[in-house]
Amino acid sequence: MRFFPVFLDIDFRPVALIGSGAAAQNKLRLLLAAGAQVHWFAADAAFATEVAPSPDRVIIMNDDPQLADWSSYVAVVAAGDAPDVERIAARARAVNIPVNVIDRPELSTFIVPAIVDRGEVVVAIGTGGASPVLARRLRERIEALLPARIGALAALLGRYRERFAARKHNAIMPRAFWERVVDGPIAAAFLAGRAEYAERELVRAIDDTAQAKSSTAGTVYLVGAGPGDPDLLTLRALQVLQSADIVFHDDLISPAILDRARRDAEFVFVGKRRGHPGIGQDAIHRQLTEAARAGKSVVRLKGGDPFIFGRGGEELEYLRSRDIPVVVVPGVTAALGCAAEAAIPLTFRNEATRLTLITAHRAEEAAATNWTGLGDPQTTVVVYMGLSASAGVRDGLIAAGRDADTPAAVLARGTQSDARRVYGRLGDLPALAAQAGPGPALLIIGEVVAHAAEWPQALLAQFEAAA
Ligand code: SAH
Repeated sequence: MRFFPVFLDIDFRPVALIGSGAAAQNKLRLLLAAGAQVHWFAADAAFATEVAPSPDRVIIMNDDPQLADWSSYVAVVAAGDAPDVERIAARARAVNIPVNVIDRPELSTFIVPAIVDRGEVVVAIGTGGASPVLARRLRERIEALLPARIGALAALLGRYRERFAARKHNAIMPRAFWERVVDGPIAAAFLAGRAEYAERELVRAIDDTAQAKSSTAGTVYLVGAGPGDPDLLTLRALQVLQSADIVFHDDLISPAILDRARRDAEFVFVGKRRGHPGIGQDAIHRQLTEAARAGKSVVRLKGGDPFIFGRGGEELEYLRSRDIPVVVVPGVTAALGCAAEAAIPLTFRNEATRLTLITAHRAEEAAATNWTGLGDPQTTVVVYMGLSASAGVRDGLIAAGRDADTPAAVLARGTQSDARRVYGRLGDLPALAAQAGPGPALLIIGEVVAHAAEWPQALLAQFEAAA
């Protein structure tokens, strides 16, 4: 470790900035963000006056920085190409003022790290000046990992520190209390956007030691994993996966997605495999409850979005009835992910003004579906789990008045490496489904299918001739 990491208080304190290029302007922004009073020695004072964002916080200095009085400066920052930069660095060292020469670590007594700025929470990344590019890459990765509201969470906890201290609890040690808050449902709810609820619960926990002691259940995160491509995970899904103790997943979850979870998390498969029925919904409910009661951070990972044909609603109600804290993390549902991949706009001005997501698992289900209304030519119909019921879907839609020539697509294994897309007409839906190969697959019926990137030109011509 070549440089000792510290966070310096420069709020309302004078810092000298020497030089005026792009690098110096970047530092100017940073210094102002931290509240400094910047004395800016720019070669071109007129230019500096023009770009200085806040005239009351930036004083443009016209004199030679070498001759200026430095006695009030808490730090000196100089552009690497400023004139006489070696002498500037030497003067600062001689009077023990911390000096940073941009991109010249050998002249500097401090360097400015790459930072992730979330308000109260700041992460600084340094490479000892060896590679600012590497530091920036690391920063991007940390950016993706840190919840957007982490700074606001720190501020909330900061606001209540004194209130907790004033209670003089002897039932629980302060550190144990705050660990419970940070690792538990209060912080989880706050980070998921439920600020008022989290604050209410925090106040309750502070004012009621008994409750603070008893709230040991871990949180269950009902997480949508998207349609398959791991890059379609949301940032929040990634964050909770990275801190999971145990992950319950089913058949739609690809290994590539499980790869993004914390390495030493426990993985439990609770889905159905070809020929095997799976452990059943009741057993899933019980296992989720047990893991949460053991204080674990539990991720229940589901394909697409947990609330779209995913039984997420049932799991939520069950866990709630057992007083287990639950946070729902939405996912890109198959209809949206697969349509995007195929470049099918599911709604389109004046052409498709309504979107219906339905499920038709078995032929009987298709027969029992109320198709009235889906005959409307402006409705795009997306059928989940409809591969084996495609004949029933076709018959139902046509009986409801839908034209047999309506464009249709079968999108199988969407966003995965073996994705297959087949296009045609509603009348041929069963043949298209047979061509698409094994599921998971969606059926999409509607005029908008003709906007697909791969909509066959031949079909298009035939369609226009018929119209
Ligand atoms: N909760 C999921 C849906 C679960 S139901 C979601 O929001 O997407 C399972 C059905 O989803 C499958 O039968 C299929 O119709 C659809 N599906 C899921 N992933 C898919 C994919 N990658 N490609 C095509 N269809 C998919």
